[in-house]
Amino acid sequence: MKWSFKVGRVFGIELRIHITFFLIVIYAAYIWGWGMQKTLGWPGAAYGAFLISVLFLCVVIHELCHSRMAQHYGAEVDSITLLPIGGVSMLKNMPEDPKKELWVSLVGPLSNLVIGALLGIALILVPGKVSAETAEQFVDVISGITLQGFVTYMLIINVLLAVFNLIPAFPLDGGRVLRSILAQYMPYMKATRVAVTTGQVFAFILGIAGFLLGAWIWLIIAVFIYFGAEQEGRGTEVKTVLSKLTAGQAVEANAKALSPGQPLSEVVAIVLHSFQEDFPVIEGDSIVGVLTRANLIAGLHNIGPEAQVSQVMEKDFPIVEASALFSEVYEKMNASGVKAVPVVEGGQLLGMVTLEHLSEVFMLLNSTEKPLQIPS
Ligand SMILES: [Zn+2]
Repeated sequence: MKWSFKVGRVFGIELRIHITFFLIVIYAAYIWGWGMQKTLGWPGAAYGAFLISVLFLCVVIHELCHSRMAQHYGAEVDSITLLPIGGVSMLKNMPEDPKKELWVSLVGPLSNLVIGALLGIALILVPGKVSAETAEQFVDVISGITLQGFVTYMLIINVLLAVFNLIPAFPLDGGRVLRSILAQYMPYMKATRVAVTTGQVFAFILGIAGFLLGAWIWLIIAVFIYFGAEQEGRGTEVKTVLSKLTAGQAVEANAKALSPGQPLSEVVAIVLHSFQEDFPVIEGDSIVGVLTRANLIAGLHNIGPEAQVSQVMEKDFPIVEASALFSEVYEKMNASGVKAVPVVEGGQLLGMVTLEHLSEVFMLLNSTEKPLQIPS
């Protein structure tokens, strides 16, 4: 991210601070020093800067929880950048699995709830507490430079961080939670669209409210949510187009076919010459089996090179049309456990599609994709 610089590295993740982050530290120092009813001066300014720094430490913990969970599911985490509005984790290769996304999204706000609960316990143990039963007493407590004030302030902030992030609006964590729940009942794209729309409607209401109440920070957050939701929606649009790829586009066209009576020794020779590893098995005009590399190895091991293709081939296998979508092919591979599938068009064998082909195309798509951003 531009205008940000590195401050350290945790769990292989680069921690960066955006230059605008210092604006909020200065702002907090000013508010605590001279911006409140009681002027606290320089000690207040130092306390304000300290308070905001601890707050951002909580944001870092929140982001690290997202990142660690994502790493657990095999994603790569490039960096975490601190902005005045929160943190942004840059993830790559996050698996598109609603359940995994649910957990990656949830752990961030959960971490703030845990911190909040711990601070709640700490608050009970704080010595020399003053009562904060009325609103005035409460304001006195949180605007004073005391241990009780500090713990109370941090407790409230962490609960607010958790609640704010759980609002079901893209690109907040809650938007992702909403999408991953919806995606278990409807297609991923549709779930995304619902979450995007929810995010934009929410941003609109927040923006209007912010404008009417003169709460400019709400207006800024509303703009951030609105465009964040739009970006998320567009990212999914791109994926929708890509998800229209068909088996015919990934087919290995020059695939050699075998006959059921061929001995495995001949197949080994073909493998060595052509590097083809999975074969359709043809008898007359029909496809009667699929011989995968695993079948070949098992056959050579269990029976020997004299074994016939028909003895070791897969007889229960899916066949897909050239027009079948990638997702459909993938589902059929998964359901049958056969990682190589013959592709036909008009009853004619076109060739084979293998799981490796599909993964290659998916990897290509992934590398051109923008990294996933999880704002805090
Ligand atoms: Zn988050």
